[in-house]
Amino acid sequence: MTIELDRMLEAVAGTIVHHAEELTGLDQAIGDGDHGANMKRGFEAVLAARDEIAALSPGPALQKIGMTLVMKVGGASGPLYGSFFMAMGKALPDDCGLEDIAAALQAGIDGIKKRGKADAGEKTMLDVWVPVSEALRTALQEQAAGAAIRQRVLDTAAAALQSTKPMLATKGRASYLGERSIGHLDPGARSSQLMIAAVCECIEV
Ligand code: ADP
Ligand code: MG
Repeated sequence: MTIELDRMLEAVAGTIVHHAEELTGLDQAIGDGDHGANMKRGFEAVLAARDEIAALSPGPALQKIGMTLVMKVGGASGPLYGSFFMAMGKALPDDCGLEDIAAALQAGIDGIKKRGKADAGEKTMLDVWVPVSEALRTALQEQAAGAAIRQRVLDTAAAALQSTKPMLATKGRASYLGERSIGHLDPGARSSQLMIAAVCECIEV
């Protein structure tokens, strides 16, 4: 399995920029309509620092991405994704395998939970990251092959995104809508699923 951080960075930033309007549309339905612009601004800044980031080892590179997002992204998603990447980067050893990546992902999720005082089931980005992390762990325990792990992660993320639609938002701006938050996908869940799909595409198995 080959993991090229620079390629991943380009793919993740690219998909976010490409889907900015869609993310904005989702946030117009249950928030304030800035998620696309927020994420685009953040990842354009990450792309601008691309050479600097690519020169770092994976852990510090993820931390730098997190710091850039915190600085550039207004709104709740900046500190949340910032905490995610920083906590993940802090947990990732230089010479990392899939087990380390799974552990780092869990650390990143704990970072989101701590920052947002939220958990799965509240119609947020956590509703994608938590099941994806669980699927990855299960696949590793079962010693599934690389291609199967990738497919399970992709499928879990897609289903997890859809699962946010019937949920009632109890955290973030969408929670102000109460019952009217039901019936819409969560914008942060969609941006998370986009990132996961982009990362999976970059992994050669
Ligand atoms: P804002 O809500 O400040 O306008 P964004 O629109 O950029 O910020 O991001 C909204 C997304 O942030 C939501 O769709 C949700 O996924 C995520 N979010 C909001 N609050 C929380 C929280 N407390 N914990 C986890 N994720 C959250
Ligand atoms: Mg918003």
